[in-house]
Amino acid sequence: MPELPEVETIKLGLQKKILGLRITKVQVNSPKSFIGNPNQVEGKKVVDIWRKAKMLGVELSEDQTILLFHLKMSGQLIYEDGGRFIGGHPTEDMLGKMPNSHTRVIFSFSDGSHLYFNDQRKFGWIRVSNKAQVTSNKLFEKLGPEPLEKSFTWQILKQNLLKHKSMPIKVAIMDQSVVSGVGNIYSNEACFDAKLDPRTKVGDLGDGEFKAIHKGVIKVIKNGIKHGGSTRAHFVDPEGHKGYFLDYAKVYWRDKHPCKVCKTEIKKITLGGRGTYFCPRCQS
Ligand SMILES: [Zn+2]
Repeated sequence: MPELPEVETIKLGLQKKILGLRITKVQVNSPKSFIGNPNQVEGKKVVDIWRKAKMLGVELSEDQTILLFHLKMSGQLIYEDGGRFIGGHPTEDMLGKMPNSHTRVIFSFSDGSHLYFNDQRKFGWIRVSNKAQVTSNKLFEKLGPEPLEKSFTWQILKQNLLKHKSMPIKVAIMDQSVVSGVGNIYSNEACFDAKLDPRTKVGDLGDGEFKAIHKGVIKVIKNGIKHGGSTRAHFVDPEGHKGYFLDYAKVYWRDKHPCKVCKTEIKKITLGGRGTYFCPRCQS
């Protein structure tokens, strides 16, 4: 599943490409993937694009209609305007001809370009909403602070984490009500940055450690965005560059490789059902 930096990268790219364009047609191939009436969208201009946690919002002209996107497990956004950019879950067929059998929704724009929403497993969705609904939306209510906003202080993080005293820190930091948008990759990296054993129970952390994990989350998310996201294999960002963050990852997907700091072999365990990577020496 894409994490915050991948969705942020898609947002930045779409801002460059479709801001100001009019949506001329919405073709819905799978009703499950598009909630709402396409007529409410057609003919309107894209005036703003934002991200909240892993959700993208596309604001339209005239009546404050907003299109919400959530890519979930296997969603992809593929934009074609002569060139192509791709964001989201990587697959072999994302590089082939569009549309294909996994294309659920097609947006056509006033300049002849197209945005394809592909989703193999159909957990992702696009929803027609509006400003009033979005501000009172339950999807947003449950979300913790954005890691790069000022409201994300170490004290707030500590307070939110302490709701999960018996949980390992690595698992608790992935709860979206604790902090928005941190998934498996960045929780692994943040624990390494904070020099914390990912198995440490939240209830056993002191203030110094809460401060360290707070700093770690901000640092790894910023690095992720700087390197255009982290998706393995075929990820291509909206400018056509591959996501290179994993080249910079300290522990994620690096089991049996030497730690970049102390050369100790990185260990892999399963924690909360997810692959967990750490340096037994730096994080003890
Ligand atoms: Zn190490």
